[in-house]
Amino acid sequence: MCKNGIDETLPHFKYHPNAYRLGLFKQGPARPCTVCSRETNYVYSGPFYCIDDVDAICPWCIHDGQAAQKFNGTFQGAVEYTNGLLSVVFNDDTNQYMYFVGNEQVESIHDRSLHELLFRTPSYSSWQEPQWLRHCDDFCAFIGYFDQDEWMDLKEELHEEMVRLEASYGLSLNHLADDNGLYLFQCLTCGKYRLHTDYS
Ligand SMILES: [Zn+2]
Ligand SMILES: [Zn+2]
Repeated sequence: MCKNGIDETLPHFKYHPNAYRLGLFKQGPARPCTVCSRETNYVYSGPFYCIDDVDAICPWCIHDGQAAQKFNGTFQGAVEYTNGLLSVVFNDDTNQYMYFVGNEQVESIHDRSLHELLFRTPSYSSWQEPQWLRHCDDFCAFIGYFDQDEWMDLKEELHEEMVRLEASYGLSLNHLADDNGLYLFQCLTCGKYRLHTDYS
């Protein structure tokens, strides 16, 4: 049942395959999930954007969409979409999510993979609002927090991303500060690595 101390019966997240290993769920004594009331040893500790203060969400209630539905929330801050950075906010008056690309409101987008990411996938911890990257017309999988020791192994693969980050953030991996966060993603289609960065 257990591999590396992680219960293998836990739900798997397509876009967040390492969610448990990366500590996005705090493992502890059993307590009731705020959504389904079932006892759980795994409580979500990442971002969840909603109005209510939500105490404890179990992995299953993220995976099946119940948590997002119950609290009219979303797990993602901003996600790369076809024409910019997309975010959603729930509107209490209309009882619907409002979709924004950049600062501009757009029509609701009905896209299965987008909904899976926004409403059924845990996010990750970062200094600033997390961003989810995209490639090959789909969202990438979040691989983990990237540190410089791992950099050498992926130097070739990440060259293009580093050029992009240098241009947009003035970042150089040779002069990384302690307050730089680096977040590694991988395309589920072609395997390309992508990086997001922020600062404390
Ligand atoms: Zn639950
Ligand atoms: Zn790709």
